[in-house]
Amino acid sequence: MNEEVKIMDVKVNKGMLSLVQGDITREETDAIVNAANSRLAGGAGVDGAIHQAGGPSIMEECRKIGGCPTGQAVITSGGALKAKYVIHTVGPIYRGGGRGEANLLQSAYLESLKLASARKLKSIAFPAISTGVYSYPLAEAAHIALKTAVDYLGEHEDIEMIRFVLFDRGTFDVFVKELRKII
Ligand code: ADP
Repeated sequence: MNEEVKIMDVKVNKGMLSLVQGDITREETDAIVNAANSRLAGGAGVDGAIHQAGGPSIMEECRKIGGCPTGQAVITSGGALKAKYVIHTVGPIYRGGGRGEANLLQSAYLESLKLASARKLKSIAFPAISTGVYSYPLAEAAHIALKTAVDYLGEHEDIEMIRFVLFDRGTFDVFVKELRKII
């Protein structure tokens, strides 16, 4: 791994799984994923950053869609972003782990990937869903995220790249550690 630019790429089946440290609003993948809330109302963290960088048209589309249940995903255009689409998914709020959080987090990733496949997209970038305001323990969340992505690439050959864009060094390091346990 290069020590300057934080990046780790691994080939999985026909596709690429990529970890980078950075700001997801700058990604050039076909779609970036937003860690939204169920009202699609915008908020703090990555949600606020995506709406700020993408401009008001994304929120217009979100208002028309109306909402998204936890564990599901919806798609809008990318507005002013380089990515053509934003897939808005809703991760669980972590309340101790006994309320189906793991299944819901896995579902948020899986439904986003299925939506990307349905739209014939080739590349998709995810943030670390639920690990900010929604308080999901980071290593567990990273494991679920990576396992879901690795399994998807193993079972589908349409998506060429799944990238995780981790905002801070600590999150990136945990994703690298968890990925090494899986591959
Ligand atoms: P949630 O409500 O799902 O927990 P948050 O936005 O609070 O979502 O946090 C999810 C993750 O996104 C956190 O690791 C946070 O540091 C990260 N994050 C915040 N801004 C950005 C950004 N611009 N690009 C990528 N990740 C970001």
